[in-house]
Amino acid sequence: MFLAVRAARPRGVSPVSETQDPHVSPSADAVKFVYDFTEGNKDLKDLLGGKGANLAEMTNLGLPVPPGFTITTEACKEYLESGEEPAALRAEVTAHLDALERQMGKKLGQADNPLLVSVRSGAKFSMPGMMDTVLNIGLSDESVNGLAEQAGSERFAWDSYRRLIQMFGKTVLGVDGDLFEEALDEAKKAKGVKVDVELDAADMKKLVGQFKEIVSKETKRDFPQDPREQMDLAVRAVFDSWNTDRAKLYRRQERIPGDLGTAVNVCSMVFGNLGPDSGTGVAFTRDPASGHQGVYGDYLQNAQGEDVVAGIRNTVPLAELEQLDKKSYDELMQIMETLETHYKDLCDIEFTIERGKLWMLQTRVGKRTAGAAFRIATQLVDQGLIDEAEALQRVNGAQLAQLMFPRFDEKAKTELLGRGIAASPGAAVGKAVFDSYTAVKWSRSGEKVILIRRETNPDDLNGMISAEGILTSRGGKTSHAAVVARGMGKTCVCGAEELEVDTKRRCLTAPGGVVIEEGDVVSIDGSTGKVYLGEVPVVPSPVVEYFEGRMHAGADDADELVKAVHRVMAYADRVRRLRVRANADNAEDAARARRFGAQGIGLCRTEHMFLGERREMVERLILADTGEEREAALSELLPLQKGDFVELFESMDGLPVTVRLLDPPLHEFLPDITELSVRVALAESRKDSNENDLRLLQAVHRLHEQNPMLGLRGVRLGLVIPGLFAMQVRAIAEAAAERRAANGDPRAEIMIPLVGTVQELEIVREEAEQVIAEVERAHGVDLGLTLGTMIELPRAALTAGQIAESADFFSFGTNDLTQTVWGFSRDDVEASFFTAYLEKGIFGVSPFETIDKDGVGSLVRNAAEAGRATRPDLKLGVCGEHGGDPESVHFFHEVGLDYVSCSPFRIPVARLEAGRAAAESKGSDSR
Ligand code: PEP
Ligand code: MG
Repeated sequence: MFLAVRAARPRGVSPVSETQDPHVSPSADAVKFVYDFTEGNKDLKDLLGGKGANLAEMTNLGLPVPPGFTITTEACKEYLESGEEPAALRAEVTAHLDALERQMGKKLGQADNPLLVSVRSGAKFSMPGMMDTVLNIGLSDESVNGLAEQAGSERFAWDSYRRLIQMFGKTVLGVDGDLFEEALDEAKKAKGVKVDVELDAADMKKLVGQFKEIVSKETKRDFPQDPREQMDLAVRAVFDSWNTDRAKLYRRQERIPGDLGTAVNVCSMVFGNLGPDSGTGVAFTRDPASGHQGVYGDYLQNAQGEDVVAGIRNTVPLAELEQLDKKSYDELMQIMETLETHYKDLCDIEFTIERGKLWMLQTRVGKRTAGAAFRIATQLVDQGLIDEAEALQRVNGAQLAQLMFPRFDEKAKTELLGRGIAASPGAAVGKAVFDSYTAVKWSRSGEKVILIRRETNPDDLNGMISAEGILTSRGGKTSHAAVVARGMGKTCVCGAEELEVDTKRRCLTAPGGVVIEEGDVVSIDGSTGKVYLGEVPVVPSPVVEYFEGRMHAGADDADELVKAVHRVMAYADRVRRLRVRANADNAEDAARARRFGAQGIGLCRTEHMFLGERREMVERLILADTGEEREAALSELLPLQKGDFVELFESMDGLPVTVRLLDPPLHEFLPDITELSVRVALAESRKDSNENDLRLLQAVHRLHEQNPMLGLRGVRLGLVIPGLFAMQVRAIAEAAAERRAANGDPRAEIMIPLVGTVQELEIVREEAEQVIAEVERAHGVDLGLTLGTMIELPRAALTAGQIAESADFFSFGTNDLTQTVWGFSRDDVEASFFTAYLEKGIFGVSPFETIDKDGVGSLVRNAAEAGRATRPDLKLGVCGEHGGDPESVHFFHEVGLDYVSCSPFRIPVARLEAGRAAAESKGSDSR
């Protein structure tokens, strides 16, 4: 059953409407479902959705917002839960509608002087084009004449009515939209014209008749003439649109929770299609692609609402509005400045000019490219609008990761096909596909594809997700393709008008006649808008060059982006508490990690040192029948291991290096069972069997395990293969001693994997301590080595208090911990059933990627607490893949770990996120 959540009255909101109108809310306790635009503010996004909260904010700033009211997300949630609107909603809407009618001096749908309203969705998080909107509510066979009178234009009134039936028919009544489009095309064809504006009042009147017939035929009911019924049905349709397949898919993709619901904004209509002195547009307070300040946006004269965002007609740059309507342009510039200063951020806006009067229809903190996010954050610091801590909240690790992607090589020989608008940066190469279905199908079979469309619409979402990049021939920087691609961080070139896209014939024709068929490779550059034939080679990004130390942020000619990244990284490093180490097992990776800012190695997987030519030595170790044979194999390995560690300690001189003793099952070092069986069988049939192969085969059979991940690996190996761990410990100690002798500063930490109980650790520790003492005695040094363990089994986490008695440090192995807590094989499940789990929303993201806070995370938290209760100075880190995942880094900060460790390329991301987490928690502490 639905439990009505009481919407707490927002601070500073007086119950004006309640006292003004007894219908609104009879008792102080009742849930309030409707807020006038004058009642809310920008911080009420949970309740009023982003659009509603910002309309309220603009209203309160005194900006010209057409009056209206917002139905809350709570009303939507109750509707979605019970299938019915909350009982109190109708009366509240009536009260707010009455107030709106009084204010406007018109009545909804009144025959001679109609008030018309738009009904628009607006969830907490922007979901561009995903949910429904209906404009011109209130028009009917009667009020259309009133509107004609009011506006002094028959054509306008009938065109508006035709649009209402079309939009309402499609979104509210579920009529196939193509039926209306076909009728419209027919009308244009019959008249021999190309665009809608060439149809006159009589044509529109005829179309209205046809559209009404379509509605009656398809829905077995007449188009509703009662304006209130139109409004109520539209509100319900907006509620329902929360749960359309495309909205669900978008939410999953963007990790927006599925239970937020949408608010509904009922707003008095203003018209941008009343003639050449009217129009509609979208604008950004600065360039969402570069962050530069200036005049950015698109304007469409004599057009209504969605025409711009839909990218159906081509717009003019906003700067041209200055020539068309200077007064409105100046006012708009003033408002944009007000908004940016007020929101202290880039805002995007939608506006309409109705016969020379400017109206603000929407604003929000605008989406931006990754590069622009860094630049804008530092620009705003320079302008004194935000501080460094706030700047860190304006960027994120995912954006930084995006900036580290390669770019097209400028020196490469290329064949330019054409050029469009650089809508979302990146370098994407793939096979051309012309519909979303093929994009999904091909990408599932491992192909990289570029989705090419004339323009995209919300039904293309699946294809856009699957594609490497998106190319459209129509629409501007604010078209659906551009907005959605930017949101996803996908490369996009839009509005490449010189490229003729024929989706029916599945081809694209470039100027000069080059034809790209489905399957041909193209390369698109979302930073320049250029489209190339074939595969263009890529080069590293300047941000990587900077981290590598090959480009300096302080240089005069340093890239603007590099300068911004450098500054933001400095903010993060200043504030972060978590240290960041690298998972690295060779000197080259260690050196890179250090350049990228690693403060040590958190995980050196020694098994990587047992491969290649050394595999045979490991084989000899496994095949050893006697103590001498085993000793011989181990002493062959010892100097090699020592050499590895010397190199590693040298490259990480002065910083901690956690060396993990051998972890994987031994059979991984042996030949494949099938191959070896065939080899032995063939040799036997030729009567020339090889003794070694026979012994190997026996060993492979002996070591074969059904579940090797849960078998003889980690500490278990160390306990059953005498001398193995001792050899590794000796190699570490001797390498450290050698570095000391060379005046180095080695800081090795020895880590035991897969411990489940303290007894295992005690035994290994005792042996290790003996070996270390021997080496120290021999070299006359105190090596300061510490011994710790991975916590990667549930039992270890549950008995962490005991384990800490024998451990100087814990490092959480969240890969194995996730595998064992969930009972998921880390090698198999992602390919086998994770897609189904993600589709069903069982989790929004793989728990191998982002830490499962409730399950695995709670073990980490408890183990950290228990460990520190035993040993307050216990050092705590994490070295599973989660150590480089932005969301997980915040969690590890929160539970008080000392460091995260991740692959070298993710170090900058971890540093940034550690800084963000610290700035965020400082902010909340001081609040
Ligand atoms: C882990 O399990 O999280 C870990 C880091 O070890 P590995 O991935 O090598 O098993
Ligand atoms: Mg592990």
